[in-house]
Amino acid sequence: MKQQIKQKCFRHGGVDYPYDLHIGGVKRLNLRVRPDGSIRLSVPRMTSQRQIDAFLARCGDKIAEAVARIQANKPSPKAELSATEQAEKKERLLATILDCHKNVVLPRVTALNLPMTDEQRQFIASPQAICIHPMKSRWGSCNFKKGTLNFNLYLIDQPIECIEYVVMHEFAHFIQPDHSPAYHALMTALMPDWKARKAKLNEKI
Ligand SMILES: [Zn+2]
Repeated sequence: MKQQIKQKCFRHGGVDYPYDLHIGGVKRLNLRVRPDGSIRLSVPRMTSQRQIDAFLARCGDKIAEAVARIQANKPSPKAELSATEQAEKKERLLATILDCHKNVVLPRVTALNLPMTDEQRQFIASPQAICIHPMKSRWGSCNFKKGTLNFNLYLIDQPIECIEYVVMHEFAHFIQPDHSPAYHALMTALMPDWKARKAKLNEKI
């Protein structure tokens, strides 16, 4: 028999909780709060609404707690930036990246005196392009073949030590393109506290 799905809602502590009711295909009632905060309740085929209501009343506190925890961890939706705000952030971020490049990346790479090809040296000294866009899932990326770098516009809202970490991370890819142990050893040589900086950055995503 096919499973039947209904959209339902229950009230607990003055709050309405919509849930997907999956009927059939299970032996006992079970409830799951998904990572996005939505609720799924699966029930055996012959379960009455009364049994469902009693079950939800029993689990109400736990459900409310789980949903609240998920909502508290969700990043606040980024307000749409106006074109002017975007341009202003872009300009500030580019200036910050160039500062990091000059004051952090170049002195540290030079100090390590690593064996590099002429092309690697050239890209590190002066990348072919530094592009800045609003991005959803990453802070930066590096095209080590083309010599170009991309950075997330929202990086400008992060603490400076995190911006420095991302800039160093991407420039280091000109020396070591992957995320191998060799890359991490290189990062440690270039920026001994990169892990702490990265952890701080990830907290903010
Ligand atoms: Zn990387």
